[in-house]
Amino acid sequence: FNTIEDVKTLVGTYLDFPSEGIVFRDIFPIFRNPSALDCLLNTLVKEALDFAKKASSTKIDVVVGLDARGFLFGPTLALKLNAKFVPVRKAGKLPGVTIKHSYQKEYGSDELEIQADAILKGEKVLIVDDLLATGGTCKAAEALVEKLGATVVLNQFVIELVDLKGRDILSAPIYSAIKY
Ligand code: 5GP
Repeated sequence: FNTIEDVKTLVGTYLDFPSEGIVFRDIFPIFRNPSALDCLLNTLVKEALDFAKKASSTKIDVVVGLDARGFLFGPTLALKLNAKFVPVRKAGKLPGVTIKHSYQKEYGSDELEIQADAILKGEKVLIVDDLLATGGTCKAAEALVEKLGATVVLNQFVIELVDLKGRDILSAPIYSAIKY
């Protein structure tokens, strides 16, 4: 696996999962192939470093991973970028002082949460998740980071579902490795 196009061949597609009418993209086959996973992670790291360099040599201080599949990429990215890793979780999972942000989903609303002392004012943040669909989840994460006085410099996704136009509602620039 030398290119991201090679990696894309491993993404699984399931019709009507988790409910009727949904086309679900499954990233887990990539994790069964160390060469493919290595290629994907290297691509994400390289894009983050290139982006930071272009953006007047910004140092990324924090990688924020989104519940739950963002956690599969966040800590590795953070290590390679010499940044800290911070999780954003569904409400009710994190101890201590937290801040919350609710957002609308297709059916009903949901709430995301972050530990208030995890990110400092002025820090530069990269958000990572497995997939960008409508953008609602990532937009809520951007709001949490901003509430803590930090700045999202880049949002990274393994997969972007382009037709859903999630990128139109996000504030920070976006890199997605695989597009459908
Ligand atoms: P959004 O808020 O952008 O509409 O949805 C993105 C969130 O839903 C992400 O956290 C992602 O993990 C999950 N998600 C939505 N659709 C899919 C899918 O087809 N495959 C995977 N792996 N995750 C999905």
